[in-house]
Amino acid sequence: MTEYELVVVGGGPAAITLAKLLGNKKKMVIIRPESSSMIYCAMPYAIEGLFDIEKTLKSNTLITESGADFIRDTVTEIDFDGKNVTLSDSTQLAYKQLVIATGAEPFIPPVKGSDLKGVSGFKTEKDLSALQATISSGVKKAVVVGAGAIGIELAQALKKAGLEVNLVDMTSSILPNLVDSEMTEDMKAEMLNAGINIHLEAKVVSLGGSEWVQHVELDNGHKIHFEAKEENAESGTHDGIVIFAAGMKAVTDLVKDSTIELGRDGIVINDKMETSLPDVYAVGDCTQFKSAITGKTAPGKLATNAVPMAKVLGFNMMGKNKSYPGFYNGAATKVGKYYVGGTGLSESVAKNAGYDVISGYSEVTTQFPIMPDAKELKFKLVADKATGKILGAQIVSGEPVTGRIDLLSYAIQKNSTVEDLSELSYSSQPYQSFFPAANGVVLAAEDILKKM
Ligand SMILES: Cc1cc2nc3c(=O)[nH]c(=O)nc-3n(C[C@H](O)[C@H](O)[C@H](O)COP(=O)(O)OP(=O)(O)OC[C@H]3O[C@@H](n4cnc5c(N)ncnc54)[C@H](O)[C@@H]3O)c2cc1C
Repeated sequence: MTEYELVVVGGGPAAITLAKLLGNKKKMVIIRPESSSMIYCAMPYAIEGLFDIEKTLKSNTLITESGADFIRDTVTEIDFDGKNVTLSDSTQLAYKQLVIATGAEPFIPPVKGSDLKGVSGFKTEKDLSALQATISSGVKKAVVVGAGAIGIELAQALKKAGLEVNLVDMTSSILPNLVDSEMTEDMKAEMLNAGINIHLEAKVVSLGGSEWVQHVELDNGHKIHFEAKEENAESGTHDGIVIFAAGMKAVTDLVKDSTIELGRDGIVINDKMETSLPDVYAVGDCTQFKSAITGKTAPGKLATNAVPMAKVLGFNMMGKNKSYPGFYNGAATKVGKYYVGGTGLSESVAKNAGYDVISGYSEVTTQFPIMPDAKELKFKLVADKATGKILGAQIVSGEPVTGRIDLLSYAIQKNSTVEDLSELSYSSQPYQSFFPAANGVVLAAEDILKKM
């Protein structure tokens, strides 16, 4: 049996990060079934036709040039006592240390008809190719379930690809985990203007059809029909598809019969990425960890969490003593002409977590308002009334927001207060900011100070 110092099960961003850090330092192997890992974030834009699917595939040289071995296969079993893994072709590999980085898969609720043809999630290269093929075959309508970033990006892409699109979410606003509802009005209008039908406070209760999905029933009594056109039936094409973008669930099959502790959101780990078994670690979407702000279990299935988790583990395996503080969940998306981002806790999440919350707003422009290309730039800051600590921030703008979101994530990471942000030292230039007299972050912080 070949023996490795380190076996990594999975080959997504978390596993690749480990290979980059440790590939030339340890005898290690990355095991993954797909021929390529994907740039998942780019998948909706391939549907929209911005580039070919091939552009969303990462090169395996990211692994092989690091010095790590790469095996294209699935791990079917782990013997935690004997410290070895079995692959689908029955090969066994022994390990000294094991990392589980098996990621997450789309959650498809067990409603009636969810196993019909034309119903899928949206995660893998297979999902992407199948969706592209179905679109090319002339499908006319789509129902996207889930108005989070993936659902919104996909709904817009399908609309651009020429489909009639219905976006369904059980909450009362779009992007519920990213921004509070009052920040979404312009974006919602933008989607409606683009011709996307939005069904909020609506839950899918069943899907109907004999073999291929033909209708979707919502709990508000509304039924979305995919009319079967005769010419389509004759040519073997179909009229509608349903795609679930309603959340991800951790892939944990390999550990479910072990003594490794499992939580609702995945494999339970500590701040060193250690599971409850010695020499067995887990990183990325397959894990359950905490919010860095509340200290309580929080969702955080993002590549921007998976990579830092793997870095903490990788550096510790090189002899450092790093700890992972938890998720801040800085994230962003684009809705029509608007760029939107959020970090930390939204007001609604903070209230549910028991904080007495105070929020501040500001509206400036991305350039001096007298400049011809000035676009709007709206901020919301969420703070803890008792301590003045910043808990979260949200931005909607006509220009990219990730730089500003990262600044505000850093402010939260460093326990900054509203007072601190009101004193932010900023720069100004006609093409790149509002007038020197004001800065959106400072104005939003001052808005809170006035209310405190
Ligand atoms: C459409 C879409 C858009 C996204 N957009 C963003 C974004 O804009 N920003 C962002 O930060 N995040 C985004 N994400 C989330 C991000 O892609 C994930 O958080 C990230 O991929 C998690 O990395 P991971 O390495 O933990 O797991 P994954 O990338 O899921 O990789 C897990 C790997 O493990 C393999 N595996 C599973 N079981 C086994 C087994 N038994 N044996 C061997 N291999 C196995 C899988 O096949 C897979 O290759 C998006 C996701 C999707 C689907």
